[in-house]
Amino acid sequence: MGMQIVIADDDALTRRLLRALLTAAGHQVLEAADGEAAWALLQREGVSLLITDWQMPRLDGPGLIRRIREAELPGYIYSILLTSRDSKTDTVAGLDCGADDYLTKPFHAEELRARVAIGERILTLEASLREARDGYAYQASHDPLTGLLNRLAITSHVRAELARASRGDQPLCLALLDIDHFKQVNDSYGHLVGDQALCHIAQTLTRAVRPYDWVGRWGGEEFLVVLSGTHLRDALAAAERLRAEIEANPLRLADGGVLALTASVGVACADPPAGGSPDPGRLFQQADAALYEAKRLGRNRVCW
Ligand code: GH3
Ligand code: MG
Ligand code: MG
Repeated sequence: MGMQIVIADDDALTRRLLRALLTAAGHQVLEAADGEAAWALLQREGVSLLITDWQMPRLDGPGLIRRIREAELPGYIYSILLTSRDSKTDTVAGLDCGADDYLTKPFHAEELRARVAIGERILTLEASLREARDGYAYQASHDPLTGLLNRLAITSHVRAELARASRGDQPLCLALLDIDHFKQVNDSYGHLVGDQALCHIAQTLTRAVRPYDWVGRWGGEEFLVVLSGTHLRDALAAAERLRAEIEANPLRLADGGVLALTASVGVACADPPAGGSPDPGRLFQQADAALYEAKRLGRNRVCW
């Protein structure tokens, strides 16, 4: 698989030579006659390698590479300086500005091809590391069964939202849901159906909340919904809507039957959050106490 390569050189002949060589090696080439033009091309998605001259109008090679390194672009740009400057001092200065490799003109075609291949190897490695890191980050923040945010992730979201809310004097509410008599679902239908029921509730909640609300799996059969910028009255209405959605959407079983599910909801509000440092722990406690009250009063209801 070829790469998208930017060639930056103010000499048209050098660009033509490089283009011929790189195209023959299966790469796609974009040409720029100076550093600024190269910088514009590097913003394009998919560009991963740069071969740049040192001296160019507007922005020179080292300046371009420095800009790339400071910009923290979405993907790594492997940069090769290709210049007629051949002193050791220049080589060191070129590498010190952030170049990954340094080649002198006139270049040797096979050597250039081989060094571009090194770049490709490094980029492949970088991409697989990035992928692995993203995968671990996803696993660390999501519940594997339902795909919702896990307790750790939703807690840190609440923490951040509380800080934001207190700065902007915005209210923040939590709705803690607990499925009613869920143990009976497991006991009567088995754990597999219990798991299906949890996924079903997760989907119902995700569908029912507003796009800027967050849903997480708080624990076994408990879910937490974070309602940002919401006063108590609206939060209670939202919680009631979630409760009603769960009641109105039973789980369809494989054998054609349906399994009715209900949930109790406890709402807590930081409305508006008290000055000073907001305490997520207290808000969770309030939601938990309200949930307990909803259970005590007969379940399938919202309390605060
Ligand atoms: P209540 O109405 O008072 O909430 O009663 P309940 O039965 O829902 O509450 P209880 O806390 O007694 O039971 C919760 C059950 O949820 C027990 C546990 O086995 C089950 N559970 C927790 N996590 C999972 C899971 O990941 N999968 C399945 N299938 N069951 C789970
Ligand atoms: Mg529970
Ligand atoms: Mg329960």
